[in-house]
Amino acid sequence: MNSQSRKLKTIISGIPASDGDGVKLTRIIGSPELNMLDPFLLFDVFESDQAKDYIGGFPSHPHRGFETVTYLTAGRLRHKDNAGHEGVIEAGGVQWMTAGKGIVHSEMPEQENGLLSGYQLWLNLPAAEKMRVPAYQEFSTTDISHEYLSNGGEVRVIAGNTNNGIQGPVVNDYVSPVYMDITLPEGQTFEQAVNKEDNTFIYVIHGALSIGETKSKLGNHQLGIVQDGEGVFVVANDESRFLLVSARPLNEPVARGGPFVMNTKAEILQAFEDFQNNRF
Ligand code: MN
Repeated sequence: MNSQSRKLKTIISGIPASDGDGVKLTRIIGSPELNMLDPFLLFDVFESDQAKDYIGGFPSHPHRGFETVTYLTAGRLRHKDNAGHEGVIEAGGVQWMTAGKGIVHSEMPEQENGLLSGYQLWLNLPAAEKMRVPAYQEFSTTDISHEYLSNGGEVRVIAGNTNNGIQGPVVNDYVSPVYMDITLPEGQTFEQAVNKEDNTFIYVIHGALSIGETKSKLGNHQLGIVQDGEGVFVVANDESRFLLVSARPLNEPVARGGPFVMNTKAEILQAFEDFQNNRF
């Protein structure tokens, strides 16, 4: 561990919420506790083996001005949008959708029972790219890069580069994101470089971690913001699985209106008008 490792500054557990057609979830970023962590606008966790909690899915709805990233850890989910993109992901797969100037999409469970679990992250786009042409990247679990650590740990790299140079498949030059899913045996450590200016968080999928030189504790299902430094250092107190997510802040004005995220109120009103007039 070097002296530049980040400190655990804030712990957030999120609030129970419902979105789409009654999907039960825990909203951690985009909640009253944490409105945003630039460029992250929202981070939702969904996990249930009760069909009633997810079967309604997220029927047809619009977005403009940012990216939505869905990462599944169990179950099957179908994405379909009006730009002609369609696909089903299963556990370990990711859908990375760039809404740009406007898209109408649906995200529906491709199952009628069993466990569905995963994460939705919203990443803001810089002002200059908010009206770009929509894009869609989809990667199945076999497309995701893997690094097997000598301590028995495993790193699934969706975006960014590990310290050993294993690169994730997602291309994003806007905020240079890191998105990794790490599994560690009890007592083992993980170290990852992050850009000094990045905003960075860790979400504990299961287990418990000690973070940084001070060994600050982050527990099961908690999100921790880690600050100040160019590396993240983690010890697993139990057998643990966690997400490490990091990206460059945009430091631009943010105007939010439901499924639209722009820079000014006038641009939000324009988005509603464009959507109502079928200009998406
Ligand atoms: Mn959506």
